[in-house]
Amino acid sequence: MSNETVNKRGLNPFLTIPQNSDFSIYNLPFGIFSAPGKGKRAGIAIGEYVVDLADAADEGLFEELDIDHEVFESDVLNEMIALGKPVTNRIRTIVQEALCDEKSLLKSIDGLLVPMENVTMHMPLRVGDYTDFYSSKEHATNVGSMFRDPMNALMPNWKHLPVGYHGRSSSIVVSGTEIQRPNGQILPEGADEPVFAPTERLDFELEVAFVIGKPTMMGEIVNVEEAEDHIFGLMLFNDWSARDIQKWEYRPLGPFLGKSFASTVSPWIVPIEALEPFRVKGPEQNPKPLEYLRTNDKNSFDIQLAASIRPEGSGSETTVCETNFRHLYWSMGQQLVHHTSNGCNIRIGDLMASGTISGPDEGSLGCLLEITQNGSKAITLDSGEKRTWLEDGDRVTLRGFAEKDGIRVGFGESAGKIRINVNVS
Ligand code: MN
Repeated sequence: MSNETVNKRGLNPFLTIPQNSDFSIYNLPFGIFSAPGKGKRAGIAIGEYVVDLADAADEGLFEELDIDHEVFESDVLNEMIALGKPVTNRIRTIVQEALCDEKSLLKSIDGLLVPMENVTMHMPLRVGDYTDFYSSKEHATNVGSMFRDPMNALMPNWKHLPVGYHGRSSSIVVSGTEIQRPNGQILPEGADEPVFAPTERLDFELEVAFVIGKPTMMGEIVNVEEAEDHIFGLMLFNDWSARDIQKWEYRPLGPFLGKSFASTVSPWIVPIEALEPFRVKGPEQNPKPLEYLRTNDKNSFDIQLAASIRPEGSGSETTVCETNFRHLYWSMGQQLVHHTSNGCNIRIGDLMASGTISGPDEGSLGCLLEITQNGSKAITLDSGEKRTWLEDGDRVTLRGFAEKDGIRVGFGESAGKIRINVNVS
């Protein structure tokens, strides 16, 4: 089954969809929501509404698919995703056709379209494993220049493989969840001995993660041409980081507690098929990667990304970064191929994040570490307050969307506010 209809131009939904809505008729991302009288269930976002897939299925909307309605009544999307792309893409196509049909049951039966203002969004996945890559050349170069040597900023392996590490899935939370400032071991400036204290260098990282939608078996290696078959969709991903904890602990085994305390995802998973109109070529790779990673495909996407900070008690939010997914040196497909190249299996619901996405321009740096040059250059927010690192009460919001020829496909928000660490004496 194809997803032709989903990307057909000139569709005319019966709902009024605000012009700048992330959730156009061409997007139709999946999420898990609840609402008064409705327990957790699967939904599709459209404009200012959510399509209740569980109730729509009970009314017969997906009759032709002969699927167990329980996949929509689950508190995560894993079982629905496991039906496979031919089915999940058909679910979107059926919803899309129904939303453009005045006689559709989505219009005639009350309660199948739930106003977004009445819903609570939930973590949409049971994440088995989470891997974080380091795929932005600009980010790796800036960090390498600060901590190593500006002349040799990239490690010798960097242009040959997508560098990554295994993160922690238990602390991945949905947008809106408050983030507790972590404690950790820190080596104070000039000291010989570490202290145990709340981080003073709390940071965000603007990233995009992809969701595994098709598993592999141990020993199976994903081919670069087939890699995207395994990608269900994409989400915004804020990989909160404690730079002082990270700096003391990371040698020689890499990131650990400076990263694992929390990561925040946006609640809607945008299917990779919805991003098809925005497909572009990624940056030129020189030297050419080894054969198993080599591809000439247009394997990136033109997705505008932004991060903003709003201090407690301030109505004003300051955009501190504007960047683009297309800057990533290593594509999602290459990340996935490399991940399975040793025979390591992947499972439905696994998340693989890009690493901080920085761009080449001023204003396109994806974390405070780069923006403030490791805390040496404060930025001034619109409220007049200065920041080198995040303070208690600060709310960080990531946003992202793709737009072309009047078609907009957006991700909504990944937002989180820093809460004071109540465990500290
Ligand atoms: Mn990261």
